[in-house]
Amino acid sequence: MTIATRFEPTDGGLVLTNAILLYRTAMRADDDRYAMTVPRGDTFASIHAVEHGEGQPTIAAGTPLTRAQLRQWTEALGRTAVPEILPDNVLVAHPDVLAWWTPAKMRIAEILTHLRAALPNEAAAFVIWNEATGDFAIRYPAIDQATPSRLVYRTPALPAGWHLVCDIHSHGRASAFFSATDDADDAHATKIAIVFGNLAAPDGPTMATRLCAGGMFLPLPRSPFAGDHHAE
Ligand SMILES: [Zn+2]
Repeated sequence: MTIATRFEPTDGGLVLTNAILLYRTAMRADDDRYAMTVPRGDTFASIHAVEHGEGQPTIAAGTPLTRAQLRQWTEALGRTAVPEILPDNVLVAHPDVLAWWTPAKMRIAEILTHLRAALPNEAAAFVIWNEATGDFAIRYPAIDQATPSRLVYRTPALPAGWHLVCDIHSHGRASAFFSATDDADDAHATKIAIVFGNLAAPDGPTMATRLCAGGMFLPLPRSPFAGDHHAE
């Protein structure tokens, strides 16, 4: 294979020594072959020596690229790389490790996984909020009795500075609504109350939400979860 390159020899004496060829399963013709995206499907890489004979340099026969070779090249490149401007949430940027943090959010997917794991029974979860840090966290109550239509649990005792903001329970495979039992339970609390129902339905769970405030029940027109679109 002949190499056509637009890189010129430099005063620093860089010499083309190796070629790494990347392969992936065939894509549709209209895909951008040079897009710097994560490839889907099967991938393979080989590393080749570059021979400098008469005229153009030539890629010689190759061997499969190993992780060790990739690491050596990545480290070597890292020594001369231009410093990158990284997002504020990156904690560690190293050729082998990239670590970042994301702000705490109400993790609705985690809660739904917990509620589904209890099927066919009802289950519950609480979102709590820290008045000093503004952090949210999830707590699951100790369950005394759980059936498909009844749930008896102990509300978790919260550390100082933490408050219950959202009281969530499931109706298992039944629909989401506030029952007479729910009304009695919520009559003296100030919180967001959520019921998830139809947890095993293929078109996803249903949700009923309300703000409970001093005996009033105010419907919430939108999901209280940031970024949640399934219930709107
Ligand atoms: Zn209920």
